[in-house]
Amino acid sequence: MRAEDAIIVSTDPMASVIYLDYHATTPVDPRVLEEMLPYFRERFGNAASHQHLFGWAAAEAVELARSRVASLIGADPAEIIFTSGATESINLALKGVAKAYKDRGRHLATWVTEHKATLDTVHRLEQSGCRATYLPVDHLGMIDPGQLEATLGSDTILTSLLLANNEIGVIQPVAEIGAMTRGRQILLHVDAAQAVGKIPIDVNAMKIDLLSMSGHKLYGPKGIGALYVRRRQPRVRLTPTLDGGGHERGLRSGTLNVPGIVGLGKACEIAAEEMAQEHQRVAALRDRMWSRLSSKLEGTILHGHPTRRLAGNLNISFEGVGSSELLAELPQIALSSGSACTSAHPEPSHVIRALGVSEELAKGAIRVGLGRFNTEDEIDRAGDEIIRAVKVIRNRKSVMAR
Ligand SMILES: *Cc1c(COP(=O)(O)O)cnc(C)c1O
Repeated sequence: MRAEDAIIVSTDPMASVIYLDYHATTPVDPRVLEEMLPYFRERFGNAASHQHLFGWAAAEAVELARSRVASLIGADPAEIIFTSGATESINLALKGVAKAYKDRGRHLATWVTEHKATLDTVHRLEQSGCRATYLPVDHLGMIDPGQLEATLGSDTILTSLLLANNEIGVIQPVAEIGAMTRGRQILLHVDAAQAVGKIPIDVNAMKIDLLSMSGHKLYGPKGIGALYVRRRQPRVRLTPTLDGGGHERGLRSGTLNVPGIVGLGKACEIAAEEMAQEHQRVAALRDRMWSRLSSKLEGTILHGHPTRRLAGNLNISFEGVGSSELLAELPQIALSSGSACTSAHPEPSHVIRALGVSEELAKGAIRVGLGRFNTEDEIDRAGDEIIRAVKVIRNRKSVMAR
């Protein structure tokens, strides 16, 4: 067949779908991809090959990325360990501390609205002899530092807190917790996967000892992440979970994912430069969506704190409307009910449940995640589609009730 005979129909079915699921993952920023490409092609070296140019070029790129990542969170480059993502970072932080400090204590404290990567890791640690406290949150999803203080004991070694929640977007008072844990010589791990690049973070001002992040939540690639491990005051000790070549100061063996690391570094550099203006733009889109929905639909309920939340997050229930019937009515919009990782289960999410809302509202919660590449036009079209779908479902139900 000659090229001119080819009839190009719609090539990509996804091109017409509006993406509003930026908490599940983000597209790779084109500038990030551009920076990565040479490290798949001519600069393919192993960063641990110390004897030739290929290795040196790779190692140099890794060190540049390390300093970009460190700079975004106010850390020293030597405190950054590259991993395969936030799940691995969280596992390494929690299991690594539990092992290294087992003679000092066996108690860990965390909260019920944490990501599964934390909750399941803490459950695992409980099976191997640790004691854990899962603290509640209030009806807006906020933690209570006083409740943490009451649970800390002489055998508490670690507190783990989600800086910005992946479902309801609430931002926790990490600095306040850091002041408390540092004063008692308890380590503080922060899951910052949703927060890095979205809100300012300073590991020193916030007194954070370990911090987990993920490339694909900030316009970098999937399968790459980092763990910040404090080196001074205090120097955090970790028992590695992987044994092998002793890469990353012995804390994470395995050949470095050089293109991924380069991408994460570039994503952090872009975020540092553009965070403030992007925050404003995305928050304006979010507010525009919220006014459209709440002014045109009765019984629109926002979950989570109204102001202490990520710029790109809304989590909403529409009275009388279930989330699965709503999503079924909206095939042209990529939205999520509950978190992506648990949406195989039809139950309401553990986060929404923890807010103490009714079972019906919890089952209706949908998450709207806005981000860098959304336009005003998309927000308006998506808003109108959601309004239409809610009305269709409510009408259908009132007809059936008659
Ligand atoms: C996505 C996410 C994770 C897991 O990150 P991966 O890099 O996908 O393993 C952990 N915590 C939070 C808050 C997240 O949003």
